[in-house]
Amino acid sequence: MFKSSFYKNLIDSSLNKKTFSMETCKDILVSEEAELLDLINAAYTVRKKFWKKDVNIHVINNVQNGYCAEDCKYCAQSKSASAKIVTYPMKSIDEIMHEAKEAYESGAYRYCLVFAGTGPSESRVKKLETIIKTIKEKYHLEVCVSPGIMSKTDLKKLKEAGLDRLNHNLNTAEKYYKNICSTHTYKDRINTLNSASEIGLDVCSGVIIGMGESVTDVINMAMKFNELKNVKSIPVNFFMPVNKNVFKPAVDLTPEYCLRVLCLFRLLNPAAEIRAAAGRELYLKSMQVMCLYIVNSIFMNGYLNVTGSGILKDLQMIRDAGFNIKSDFKIKELIEKYFKSEKTDEIDSNIRIKKKSDLRRVSHKLI
Ligand code: SF4
Repeated sequence: MFKSSFYKNLIDSSLNKKTFSMETCKDILVSEEAELLDLINAAYTVRKKFWKKDVNIHVINNVQNGYCAEDCKYCAQSKSASAKIVTYPMKSIDEIMHEAKEAYESGAYRYCLVFAGTGPSESRVKKLETIIKTIKEKYHLEVCVSPGIMSKTDLKKLKEAGLDRLNHNLNTAEKYYKNICSTHTYKDRINTLNSASEIGLDVCSGVIIGMGESVTDVINMAMKFNELKNVKSIPVNFFMPVNKNVFKPAVDLTPEYCLRVLCLFRLLNPAAEIRAAAGRELYLKSMQVMCLYIVNSIFMNGYLNVTGSGILKDLQMIRDAGFNIKSDFKIKELIEKYFKSEKTDEIDSNIRIKKKSDLRRVSHKLI
């Protein structure tokens, strides 16, 4: 087992923005000598310094679903996907505004508008300008848009409309990119990220773990965000086989490995908003609450085409662990509100009067 100095060095290097060696990163991810709880504690020390006990809740709005001409293998909306998802063109502005209100009232800090497709048309950019302005006028919400590949000119228009952040995921390591998509390149994605940072727009860019990439690829991904300018937010997704399982993971996505991945991203990107994104519930399982000690952000109320654990459960998890949300609403009051709407026939979430079927499981005829 590694001595306590190993973990102390991780904290010092992270807080002082020193580079980590490949060897150390590998130890964090897969060494049996590195204890999970000690790694989490190191990540937590760094998390606390920048984010105290705050959790930023992000709510995704899948503004347009399907009809994509790209062939990203991981995506249920790609032209080659066989998953039976509900497809629709862009939602109306009224529908988007109604859902923005719901997100705000559920405790969201950031509202993310996600579009399928290579990139937005001129008319979509115009609509987006209106939507961003209206949301910013009406609600105390940070707005993030995930529109695909964009030019600097169009990005400027969105920034001037009040956009707080652009989401554009890198998804995997440069060397591995050809294995997940053939219709655009890693460089295309980097170009959009660079254009955004050149005009002073904050950037959110994340990854999907579990698509067959190696441990070295994961390390290169975590290091890349440190190199790029203006990456303020990193969603770490774990591959969900919505579109049947097209990848063979190089390392099993056990709860322990997933937590170690989150530790690596936190330690290498100490001040970034690290998010436990899609796959949180599926892979972390009973260890889910532990991610809050590493990350300072989660998606609530599901992902693009997959439901999550639900608003009440997520808020309760945050409160149970002694964390708080950044919102105009108090977490306690939100929990009471959702508890009332979801559990009217129960006395308490942990107390349920047994039904006859619980008490008398064996039929009398059998005894
Ligand atoms: S560009 Fe976006 S929506 Fe289209 S296939 Fe790729 S990830 Fe899916």
